[in-house]
Amino acid sequence: MGSGQVTPTSELSDFQGKHVTVAGLGVSGVPAAKALHARGAIVTVVNDGDDARAREQAAELKALGIAVRLGDGATLPEGTELIVTAPGWKPDKPLFQAAGKAGVPVWGDVELAWRLRGPGAAPWLAVTGTNGKTTTVQMLASILRAAGLRTAAVGNIGVSLLDAVLGEEEYDVLAVELSSYQLHWAPSLRAHSAAVLNLAPDHLDWHGSMEAYARDKGRIYEGNRVACVYNAADKRTEELVREADVEEGCRAVGFTLGTPAPSQLGVVDGILVDRAFVENRQKNAQELAEVSDVNPPAPHNIANALAAAALARAFGVPARAVREGLRAFRPDAHRIAHVADVDGVAYVDDSKATNTHAAEASLAAYEPIVWIAGGLAKGATFDELVAKSARRLRGAVLIGADRALIRDALARHAPEVPVVDVDRTDTGAMLQAVTEAKRLAQPGDTVLLAPACASMDMFTNYNQRGDAFAAAVRELEAGA
Ligand code: ADP
Repeated sequence: MGSGQVTPTSELSDFQGKHVTVAGLGVSGVPAAKALHARGAIVTVVNDGDDARAREQAAELKALGIAVRLGDGATLPEGTELIVTAPGWKPDKPLFQAAGKAGVPVWGDVELAWRLRGPGAAPWLAVTGTNGKTTTVQMLASILRAAGLRTAAVGNIGVSLLDAVLGEEEYDVLAVELSSYQLHWAPSLRAHSAAVLNLAPDHLDWHGSMEAYARDKGRIYEGNRVACVYNAADKRTEELVREADVEEGCRAVGFTLGTPAPSQLGVVDGILVDRAFVENRQKNAQELAEVSDVNPPAPHNIANALAAAALARAFGVPARAVREGLRAFRPDAHRIAHVADVDGVAYVDDSKATNTHAAEASLAAYEPIVWIAGGLAKGATFDELVAKSARRLRGAVLIGADRALIRDALARHAPEVPVVDVDRTDTGAMLQAVTEAKRLAQPGDTVLLAPACASMDMFTNYNQRGDAFAAAVRELEAGA
């Protein structure tokens, strides 16, 4: 962790008369185009698609005097001095190759929001990671609120950073969720403090390699002022801290599910303790909350709570507010949501476990488990997940397009675990899966929907998949 030259970036950039190309309509493109136009930029929006929604958005922008090119996201408009891109656009797109050749900088929505912050704007406490971002940012916002601070959970969480930065509402501090894509396109972002929760292979087709993915995630630490928060159980996050160029005096602070070393937050006898933001951390520790204050108290969620607490403590929040904030926090739907107990068996919906790393965390929280899994594998392999979780499994019920991949992994690493294959993909499939799971389960077991796969082969999204699971459980309950 080095301390280097930090360029002041909070000053307003001058967009008057600048030719700016906004790449991609949609959640971030429309507000970006409007904000730039309002600051005197000559804006052209380019968009790959040309559907009804795009035309509607284009009409709205054209009425303001903004040029829009639908159906052509590849050609760099002549005279472009800056591109502001939607975060999801892949770096190897021809538009960016052309920009590279012409020496045109590319910013994402986060970079633009960062540059447009007014003087004295609220600092950012930023969170990234492969899994747990939304939960951690919401826990963080809840803790900050409990401390009486004006805050919001924003970013990759559905609330645009541009809206938060340019809106009327005043904030003391923002809890910011950042995806690896957003970080890729945010070269000058400098958070007050930041956390990388964990790093597992994900979105590698976009980033090109695990190294590139990690590098983009690691950008969140660049220029941090107070604390770089890392996961002591995930060495790669600590390495990213070491590689970052931070401000003088910024500290590396770890979180662990075990007893914390000095400069860490951790757990001792069911109590979340802080050994980083205390006087004399060699000898002292501060109690923050109890494990039972965390909702739900699954191990990975305790880790999320510790990361949120570390960022809040870096911002000077008192211990009392950590406890209150964690108690007040309610997780979003489909994240380890307890649906019902039927005949002594718990039914838990973690439909949001859309990759193997998330499913592994979820499976580590229960025992014995009847596991409902499957869907679209997105190129994942399941050997590691199954080998690690095998001893917890009472049985498995497999659904979806790529279920054979999980079946094969189970045959290799857990041949004794009974497996039921649901080969239908219609709307009755989930009820059949849950019914099969009930048959396999014994009192005291947990039936866990943690698919380790995306849902789009059978459902619109993970929400609909989780709703189908909950509806099926209620049907069982009614018939029990
Ligand atoms: P993200 O915003 O990163 O997708 P969420 O908070 O929405 O993360 O959680 C998504 C899923 O990831 C959860 O349903 C759970 O299965 C899993 N998860 C949450 N926190 C962690 C963690 N710290 N480590 C591993 N998996 C996690």
